[in-house]
Amino acid sequence: MKIETLAIHAGRAPDPATGALREPIHLSTTFERAADGSYPHGYSYTRAGNPNRASLETAVAALEGGVAAIAYASGSAATLAAFSLATPGGRIVSSADAYHGSLRQLRELLPRWGVSVELVDTTDLDAVRAALGSPASLLWVETPSNPLLKVSDIAALAELAHAGGALLACDNTFATPVLQRPLELGADLVMHSSTKYLGGHSDVLGGVLVLREADPLPRLQEFQACGGGVPSPFDCWLVLRSLATLPLRVRAQAVNANAVATFLATHPQVEQVHYPGLAAHPGHMLASRQMLGGYGAVVSFTVAGGAVQALDVVAHTSVFTRATSLGGLESLIEHRASMEGPESTTPPNLIRLSVGLEHVDDLTADLDHALRR
Ligand SMILES: *Cc1c(COP(=O)(O)O)cnc(C)c1O
Repeated sequence: MKIETLAIHAGRAPDPATGALREPIHLSTTFERAADGSYPHGYSYTRAGNPNRASLETAVAALEGGVAAIAYASGSAATLAAFSLATPGGRIVSSADAYHGSLRQLRELLPRWGVSVELVDTTDLDAVRAALGSPASLLWVETPSNPLLKVSDIAALAELAHAGGALLACDNTFATPVLQRPLELGADLVMHSSTKYLGGHSDVLGGVLVLREADPLPRLQEFQACGGGVPSPFDCWLVLRSLATLPLRVRAQAVNANAVATFLATHPQVEQVHYPGLAAHPGHMLASRQMLGGYGAVVSFTVAGGAVQALDVVAHTSVFTRATSLGGLESLIEHRASMEGPESTTPPNLIRLSVGLEHVDDLTADLDHALRR
């Protein structure tokens, strides 16, 4: 079935007890055992398994074309679960341009467990081949990446990873399964911060991993149930509810983002625009091949000057709200370097936009006003 149909039907069925079309939110932490000690409905304790979580996992696995999905309390918890697949004393190779929290786990948490980390430009296949010359458990790629919107070749990276005995994991948060299907391109694992487009309304935190093959499933489920970083039943219910509109939201946001990026590209106060939909973007051709009819709805750009000038623009929008995060209905604007903190390598004059569903004329007028003051 097509993604529009799966988004509405996967993981959903009328409640067998009442016929309610929408699944009840199962807040119970514990489930009754039968007299023989068994669990007749398959649930024992909500950290180990919950019906709302199971429904969400079924739906996300279907959207990404995976065999299974495992939901966590945040994208960061899902990322850490994926990193836990590294063998002790092993190595992880990762995109150098990636979500700053993922890089922080790689730089600070993993080395304490004896896992070494190498950051490479994953748009440079020779650099990746060289990095995979020493054994690695995992190649982690974020594409399009945060905050520079770099585009990496998932199929080529999958080949390199597999030739080197590593799994390829792809952070698909920016593209969503509507615009990019990494498992079909050979990736072994997909990660989402469902806080972003899957949730889509800036009101729920979550993360999920999706698997192409069942091999790593027991380890990842153990990290979920035993590690305990599980999403609440209500959070799972909210994300599942939002998935129904994911294809509509993401495509419309990508159309708006393309128009905003095109507008910024010729603006006299703008130095450079990073958006793979622009023909001048170095990843444009690859993104056109690899992505499914849209380039996502995150746009970043640099303004003439430094942090002061960028902060001044950010201070003067009124439709774009000054806030971090992305993927919600409303447009957000952010001075990225000051959000990422002192170790940030993001250019000080860079502004990141999450383009929402407002009318595009209001969005471009708002940016024009803030840029021209
Ligand atoms: C937000 C984000 C994450 C982290 O997700 P949380 O839900 O905030 O923990 C990881 N990767 C990308 C690309 C993100 O945008």
